Amino acid sequence: MVKNLSFSYSKMGMYKECPQKYKFRYVYMIPEQPKYYFAFGTALHEVMEYIYNPEAPSFPTLQQALSFFENHWNKTSFEQKGYASVEKELAGYAEGRRIIEAYYAKHAAAFFHPLSVEMKSTLEMDGLNLVSILDRIDYLGDGKIKILDYKTGKTVQREPDQLYMYQKVVENSPTIKKLVLQKDPSVKELKVGQLSFYHLPTLQEMTFERAPDKEIFEFWQGVLNIADQIRAGKFSPTPGENQCRWCDYRNICPVFTGKDYTPSSAKTAAQPAPAAGPSAAEAQPEPEQELLSRKIDRCGALLDEAKALQQEIIALMKKNQFERHFGKNYQAELSRIEKLEFTDKEKVVELLRTLKLLAKVLVPTQSTVAGLLADESVPAEAKAKLQQFAKTSQEFQLHLHKTE
Ligand code: SF4
Repeated sequence: MVKNLSFSYSKMGMYKECPQKYKFRYVYMIPEQPKYYFAFGTALHEVMEYIYNPEAPSFPTLQQALSFFENHWNKTSFEQKGYASVEKELAGYAEGRRIIEAYYAKHAAAFFHPLSVEMKSTLEMDGLNLVSILDRIDYLGDGKIKILDYKTGKTVQREPDQLYMYQKVVENSPTIKKLVLQKDPSVKELKVGQLSFYHLPTLQEMTFERAPDKEIFEFWQGVLNIADQIRAGKFSPTPGENQCRWCDYRNICPVFTGKDYTPSSAKTAAQPAPAAGPSAAEAQPEPEQELLSRKIDRCGALLDEAKALQQEIIALMKKNQFERHFGKNYQAELSRIEKLEFTDKEKVVELLRTLKLLAKVLVPTQSTVAGLLADESVPAEAKAKLQQFAKTSQEFQLHLHKTE
């Protein structure tokens, strides 16, 4: 019998982001490094679970919720949480307290017991074991339920895959139906009435209607298709500036190392892959076309990242008014370039014709026309007329030099 594939919304998200990353994480089981935003989110989810615990006879006071948060927070060090320093961890702690206080000020008077909190649901369906953690489920009556998901990031936006996944899970879950039947034995069919994202930092709730069955059907075909690709072992990397930049597996990823990864060569993503002996892949030379494709992808990904880093460095140096700054091995210098841009190309060409300067530029481009303004043989009056069509802007260029 074929074993069900264990699957979830986050696994699907990772596969869509990059199948190679999925392979590192879920096939080779190499853990990612701790991320402070996950630790922060988990701490606040725990507090919400504590507040709304359906088993508790009464709701905790603000002081109790703050103490609960503090105890949870202090169980791990700043490094274990993924913060870069104690100062940053303290800032995270202060932000957590601020959110809890604001939450109480807004909602404490209307606290109620939901149907369930932080429910881990595993649903067997179409060859999948679908695992979901549902932050809060409220019963709206008449067989309808509301699913609420807490968000703790900087912003919150509609994530259709997550909403669809929740709807699919909740409407097919025998465990949730059993809970509803305990409240309301007359219910025949379970339906999602509302899906909400609740953004804790701003206390804003985004509510969505139940998706039509047709959309859920199409979504589900997509899920099954991804599951088929995973079963078929399709894990080609899909490099891109955003996903590679924050990826913990870069140091072992074939796009960046130029080599296939062998699972025995590293235990954690934080450790660089040690130089292994010749692998089977090395023993049989890779076809040149594949090698070339891989090198093109690798080069493109590195160039994309370098461009994005340059823009960030320029922005930071401008903001701090630095003209020069030092890294450990490189020094960066910023230079300003005045750029002339000629608007209304047709009028410029017409003017050049009238001024009998067209022959001088051969092809009138931005730079050849700009060159006329620096040309000593062009009369000042003609330059003044041309200047009327020129717009000056400033561009910053970054120069990196290796320090001695
Ligand atoms: S570094 Fe980029 S291509 Fe490689 S696994 Fe990570 S996201 Fe995928």
